Amino acid sequence: MENYIRDIQDFPKPGIGFKDITPLLGSAEAVKECMGLLLSNLKDKNIDKVVGVESRGFFFATLLAYELNAGFVPVRKPNKLPYETISSSYELEYGIDTLEVHIDGIQKGDRVLIHDDVLATGGTAAAVCELVEKLGGVIVQCNFLMQLSFLNGKDKISKYDIYSPLIY
Ligand code: 5GP
Repeated sequence: MENYIRDIQDFPKPGIGFKDITPLLGSAEAVKECMGLLLSNLKDKNIDKVVGVESRGFFFATLLAYELNAGFVPVRKPNKLPYETISSSYELEYGIDTLEVHIDGIQKGDRVLIHDDVLATGGTAAAVCELVEKLGGVIVQCNFLMQLSFLNGKDKISKYDIYSPLIY
């Protein structure tokens, strides 16, 4: 599986090493292996909604939702969602970023799995957790294809159950 993650230097900016998941997405076998691992400790967890984070989080979040017999809820960048939204902002190295979700995406008490491709500094995941809890969702697990552990993203969402098959 790790053989399908490609390192790209200086993307999207000079000095950044980017983990490219497109070779993995292109392999049915690697996707199946990932799915098996991502689902491995979610049996009997009664997930109602899988929240996927724009845009690379959408790929596996929809597959996970299907397998778990749960609904899929997109979290998107500002002004992409057509209905009424709530938003959460978080700090980047330079400036801030905002994420939005539809107000009816999650019902109070829904059991929620949050999925994104990569946990890096954790700012994105923390903002998504805030959105889910604002709507009354119960976060059962945050899962990712991979964690970049040297960026300590886990610390920002340490009160939740975190899982990823790959750790760098
Ligand atoms: P964070 O907020 O944890 O710093 O960054 C996580 C977000 O940035 C995720 O939504 C993820 O898609 C994206 N991201 C950050 N670094 C990488 C990377 O090396 N590869 C990929 N595929 N996405 C990344």
